[in-house]
Amino acid sequence: MNGNELLFDIGPLPSVPVVGRKERFPVHRIYCVGRNYAAHAREMGKDPDKEPPFFFLKPADAVLAGGGKMHYPPGTENLHHEIEMVVAIQREGRNIPAAKALDFVFGYAVGLDMTRRDLQFKARDMGRPWDFGKAFDESAPIAAIHSVASHGHHSTGKIWLKVNGEMRQEADLGDMIWNVPDTIAFLSEYYLLKPGDLIFTGTPAGVGAVKKGDKMLGGVDGLGELAVTVD
Ligand code: MN
Repeated sequence: MNGNELLFDIGPLPSVPVVGRKERFPVHRIYCVGRNYAAHAREMGKDPDKEPPFFFLKPADAVLAGGGKMHYPPGTENLHHEIEMVVAIQREGRNIPAAKALDFVFGYAVGLDMTRRDLQFKARDMGRPWDFGKAFDESAPIAAIHSVASHGHHSTGKIWLKVNGEMRQEADLGDMIWNVPDTIAFLSEYYLLKPGDLIFTGTPAGVGAVKKGDKMLGGVDGLGELAVTVD
């Protein structure tokens, strides 16, 4: 007995596969950027020129690593897809200058910021926290991470999502209001970024509802694809 024993076994740490590696990326925290593409801000009824992006978090165990089957979550009748590029952090840092920010990036992945839109809007309109709308079980499907060492950085390129074969979201990473270095710089002024952090970088326009049985297929140029079926 060394005083470090735990009362319960709560299973393995959340983690994400890495392309070409047998070791997995352990997930420490999940940060998400809201309204980081102007056209999406407008479809949410907001003016991107008046309101800059902002952040929210999901619990680490919200990841659905590799995609696959996602259970339709309870408490909603309006489950939305948001295709996003995800940045995986490999080094600890605070007050990171944008010019140095890319040194902190381990890699990139395709992700989905699944959203209970009805609960999110209700919270938004009542001035309450977004957690019930955004931070639920399996709300962060993510494909395998492509390391910078093997695949480089990704600041432009197509990002897209199809539902049942029909294109729903299609844009370019270059359309982000806050690019990856700016996002890391901003976040690190408020949080100590750590290895294992994931940053969902926001979704382009075209978000919409999915129902049981729908098949989502999303991709980012150079980062492969993510397939999720709602069960
Ligand atoms: Mn989002």
